[in-house]
Amino acid sequence: MLSFLSNSTSHAINGMHVINHRLTDARFLSSPHYSDRPADAQVSLLVLHNISLPPGQFGGDYIDDLFMGQLNKDAHPYFADIHHLRVSAHLLIKRDGAITQYVPFDKAAWHAGLSSFQGQPRCNEYSIGIELEGTDDSGYTNHQYHALLAASRQIVQHYPRTTLGRIVGHSDIAPSRKTDPGVGFDWCRFRQDLTICLHEDQK
Ligand SMILES: [Zn+2]
Repeated sequence: MLSFLSNSTSHAINGMHVINHRLTDARFLSSPHYSDRPADAQVSLLVLHNISLPPGQFGGDYIDDLFMGQLNKDAHPYFADIHHLRVSAHLLIKRDGAITQYVPFDKAAWHAGLSSFQGQPRCNEYSIGIELEGTDDSGYTNHQYHALLAASRQIVQHYPRTTLGRIVGHSDIAPSRKTDPGVGFDWCRFRQDLTICLHEDQK
């Protein structure tokens, strides 16, 4: 059951929508790191990730900076290795549940890299990518589960080819390279609660 949903979050969940391929209630920053989806590509996969910058530290604006192509390589030793990367995601969910969108859902964000799902390569072309601020074993906050549930519910409604069985981790589509969102992500809780929400939406 939706035991972790408080009354205060249900309003926000009910009020969230996708309009013009953007999530309402999300801050929007327009990343230059995106491409048009191929003409025959349909949004049909949702990929969950984690990220933290510097690794293991939460808060701050460095993830925004990376996705916007503006990360200062001198701000932390780790950044010298990554500041040049041209990467993005559609959504970032911070530890407090705040959502930022960087790329509209009808465009391809650059989150998956070399990847395939059920034999179909280049997952960026047909997927939506959501980053959770965290590490593989940090666990995730209730705020993040609430926000992820609300966003996923809207994504599944608006892009119905993205069925429950097509919501995966980065580790599922690039298993030799990636481990995120990691053992700290509670897939059972997330799938159960999303299933309940989708049943409610069908009534
Ligand atoms: Zn990832």
